[in-house]
Amino acid sequence: MAKPDQPATPGRATIAVHGGAPHRGPGDPVAQPLIQSVNYVQDVGSSDLLYTRYGNTPNEEVVQKRIALLEGAEAALVLSSGMGATACALLALLRPGDHLLSSSWIYGGTRKLFTDEFPLMGIEVSFANPDERRVWRKTIRQNTRAIFVESPVNPTCRVLDIPQLAILAKLQGVALVVDSTLASPINSRPIAHGANVVIHSATKYLNGHHDILCGVVAGTASYIDEVKRKMIVWGQAPDPFACWLLERGLKTLELRVTRSGENAMRIAKWCATRSEITRVHYAGLPDHPDHAIAKKLLDGFGGLLAIELAGSGAAAERFLRKLRLIAHAASLGGVDTLVVEPRFSSHAHMSSEERAAIGIPDGFLRLSIGIEDAADIIADIEQALQ
Ligand SMILES: *Cc1c(COP(=O)(O)O)cnc(C)c1O
Repeated sequence: MAKPDQPATPGRATIAVHGGAPHRGPGDPVAQPLIQSVNYVQDVGSSDLLYTRYGNTPNEEVVQKRIALLEGAEAALVLSSGMGATACALLALLRPGDHLLSSSWIYGGTRKLFTDEFPLMGIEVSFANPDERRVWRKTIRQNTRAIFVESPVNPTCRVLDIPQLAILAKLQGVALVVDSTLASPINSRPIAHGANVVIHSATKYLNGHHDILCGVVAGTASYIDEVKRKMIVWGQAPDPFACWLLERGLKTLELRVTRSGENAMRIAKWCATRSEITRVHYAGLPDHPDHAIAKKLLDGFGGLLAIELAGSGAAAERFLRKLRLIAHAASLGGVDTLVVEPRFSSHAHMSSEERAAIGIPDGFLRLSIGIEDAADIIADIEQALQ
């Protein structure tokens, strides 16, 4: 029996360090060794084959088990990128003639996959605005197989009501797939809220150090077997070194996500007091449209926030040129604080008017807050605003 001070199920910080690792005995290394080998010697007369593209080698397996434990899923699979994860996750669910209902608030690469690639394979995709709840039920068809959403949403920090969507999906007998990249399993476990599949760009918070590209799919063991079949033939497996770095990055996941969330809250509150900034998008602020649902569903509001500058595009350009500590760089969820202007990155394919209509006007900047001292990040923003 567990002692009173030892919880029966380990906490998330403990799972992040130890989850899925083999038992250690005297003489064993404390850190997971990196085994940079693609192939392994095979028993004569056996078809058991270890091969990196099959996702079954030691550095792949330990990190897959750890992420499954963090998500509260039966199984998880690590792939070579977030896009590889999304593609294989959906290829395992959809067949020609099927229909996918997607939120319209999704990552640009995912949108391209749905609009440019899936129709070529005979898969129809419809987009629905999460603010228009009644449209969702109406958009579901006889041949709808899955609902795809991203929450929290990049870059507006909107938060979707996953339990409500899970009820809809269950009623209609379709799978609910959630891209939970921005939350990480520290702030949200969508499976506990009724989702069937969870996707991550592990390039972001899960690894957290801006040095590898990886993706994750988590779900039931039988579904993950199906995703693995897709990964093997479409060639989306990760490299052992990327898995080793991901496993190392995961050890500090709880610390990093907590720290960047605390920093983001302080910075969001500070930004809200500045006259040069007309609007702050952060679900931790009471005036954010999804503050109540975020408080209910998330364990933390996360490290991503967005600001709108009073001087529009020209002010944004001046601001970016003056920054010293904060780097102007794509991606998010790492230890360094980064800033991007969606009009030149994720939303460059849209006109200024189209962007404004979806809440991303010129002068909109997305900040991915890192783990530096909040005071230093604020000082950099303050000097760049002048
Ligand atoms: C970055 C990102 C992706 C794509 O991940 P890659 O690892 O770059 O392939 C997908 N979804 C979200 C929400 C992302 O931020």
